[in-house]
Amino acid sequence: MILKTCSPTAKICAMCSFWNGQAGGTQVKPKSGMMNFFEYDSEEKNICYNNHFIKKAWNSCGHWKKRY
Ligand code: SF4
Repeated sequence: MILKTCSPTAKICAMCSFWNGQAGGTQVKPKSGMMNFFEYDSEEKNICYNNHFIKKAWNSCGHWKKRY
């Protein structure tokens, strides 16, 4: 597990509505002590509900849609 921090506007799969559908990333959570930042595991992989490929948390594409 490699924990990273990002803003909810970071255009990566971990912050995208399509990553793992309704559930989203299982390791994605608000970063304690840092308002409006999220923590995620950059090694987590989930299916993208937009293109149906398995994507890593830090991947990105042109169809990114804000989740948080
Ligand atoms: S591949 Fe694109 S659409 Fe799919 S989860 Fe990642 S950023 Fe979102």
